[in-house]
Amino acid sequence: MPISLSPNPNMDYKAPQSHVDEEEVSSLLLRPLERFIFAAGDPACAMEELCKLEDPPAQCGRVFGMGEPTYTCRDCALDPTVVMCLDCFNSSEHKRHRYKMSTSYGGGYCDCGDVEAFSSHPHCSVHARGLAGRREGDAGAGEGAGLLSKVPADIQVA
Ligand SMILES: [Zn+2]
Ligand SMILES: [Zn+2]
Ligand SMILES: [Zn+2]
Repeated sequence: MPISLSPNPNMDYKAPQSHVDEEEVSSLLLRPLERFIFAAGDPACAMEELCKLEDPPAQCGRVFGMGEPTYTCRDCALDPTVVMCLDCFNSSEHKRHRYKMSTSYGGGYCDCGDVEAFSSHPHCSVHARGLAGRREGDAGAGEGAGLLSKVPADIQVA
């Protein structure tokens, strides 16, 4: 336990937090943690990396390994080779449709996000977000602004 949070002889045992000095905890514990989390050095760079994670691509393109489950939607897939990976399928509308599961022999890739491949719901919810993000980006809105605004103000980088 960090020294500033440890019990000490002068503390009030009925209010075990009362001897804790918020400022001290902040400078001894939170700031070093912050530096640790942003180990890359520049917090601004680390933030950009985080924003990319929050901004998924509009297509999946996952390449299937041998034996990996693949899903195709009988209602929406425009041809029988159209498949989705498990993650995309689970977050798509197609799991409520008539679908068919098969096992990949390896080498194919996930068609999620390919608007030519499905008559409806070409995107799972994850890749639909990627699409939305892209449109916002095109319109000139700050990319990743959504995530940055969730970061507490005192660790935001101006
Ligand atoms: Zn996928
Ligand atoms: Zn997807
Ligand atoms: Zn479907």
